[in-house]
Amino acid sequence: MLAVAERLRGEVKEQSLEASGLASRLGLKASCALLTGPSEEGWPELVKFYDEVVHVKHYLLAQPCPVVYSEALAKVVELRDPKLVVMPHSSMGMELAPYLAAKLGAPVVTDVVDVEVRGSELRASRYLYGGKVLARVRLAQADRYVLTLRPGAFKPAPRPSPGRIVELSLSLEAAPSRRLLGYVEPEAGEVDIAKAQVIVSVGRGLRDKANLPAVEELAKLLGGVVACSRPRVDKGWLPKDRQVGNSGKTVKPRLYLALGISGAFQHVVGMKDSDLIIAVNKDPNAPIFNVAHYGVVEDLLKVVDALKQQLKKTGG
Ligand SMILES: Cc1cc2nc3c(=O)[nH]c(=O)nc-3n(C[C@H](O)[C@H](O)[C@H](O)COP(=O)(O)OP(=O)(O)OC[C@H]3O[C@@H](n4cnc5c(N)ncnc54)[C@H](O)[C@@H]3O)c2cc1C
Repeated sequence: MLAVAERLRGEVKEQSLEASGLASRLGLKASCALLTGPSEEGWPELVKFYDEVVHVKHYLLAQPCPVVYSEALAKVVELRDPKLVVMPHSSMGMELAPYLAAKLGAPVVTDVVDVEVRGSELRASRYLYGGKVLARVRLAQADRYVLTLRPGAFKPAPRPSPGRIVELSLSLEAAPSRRLLGYVEPEAGEVDIAKAQVIVSVGRGLRDKANLPAVEELAKLLGGVVACSRPRVDKGWLPKDRQVGNSGKTVKPRLYLALGISGAFQHVVGMKDSDLIIAVNKDPNAPIFNVAHYGVVEDLLKVVDALKQQLKKTGG
């Protein structure tokens, strides 16, 4: 297997380690391709998870661009001949995987949550219709396959001893199709949910903005802060820095109270490592209950009121 490491501002993203979990499950040797600019160092963490890190340095690789990256990766694939090429299902992976698959003439499956090998057949599972249907995709026989893995679906599997780093120089011809002008930092808010120990998080189940103060009061009684799922930021109810998830923040509080949040994977990846997750949802089949330690099937406003009353009685 060849895993593709993803970098942001020179740092390798944690999700780049998750393909090692798939390799270990399938009993495959795994190399990891790290593509960087000429002056960048390797990332020591990678060798703890992969048999080999193939570090390709080139001035054209300093910024991610699918045209140049797919050319470099196709050359690494030619040298290492992996059966599987795997990368995170991120903004970069979503774009790069189809480019690379087209270049290699390989089938591609994106947003994969499980992989199974049956004889000579490869099957990949992915969710459809906003997580309501799990599809098992049987791949046509091919020399190799390209997959993007859903963040959090596979746990990184450390190796017993560190792998090796191989520096590879390649000649690249592709002209970058874009130029990175810079990064735009989100405005700093008054509350940093990433540091909070108690988070009361609201989703679309909180239907009326007029009920938000009741949730804020509950959070205060618990000594915590209010966070939310993306639809509540999109509505402008709370600022972007309160959003938990894939395109928001990752939080690991002691208590995460999820109120009226369905548990879409984009949300769950940002809160699944919380110490204690309590979910309140009217729908007993809501996927949030798969990650919650405790679940309450009830109208969230009733639960908020009951908790507030109890906390006021006991003095918080
Ligand atoms: C590229 C991309 C990135 C994304 N990034 C993020 C992200 O970072 N964070 C994020 O959260 N989402 C993100 N999303 C959106 C994500 O896919 C979901 O749409 C979103 O998380 C759903 O939010 P929700 O659970 O609040 O709403 P819904 O899915 O609509 O769920 C509402 C839930 O409330 C329950 N409910 C309704 N009324 C009540 C009530 N009175 N009491 C109790 N329960 C009730 C319902 O049963 C339902 O389960 C992203 C999507 C994309 C495509």
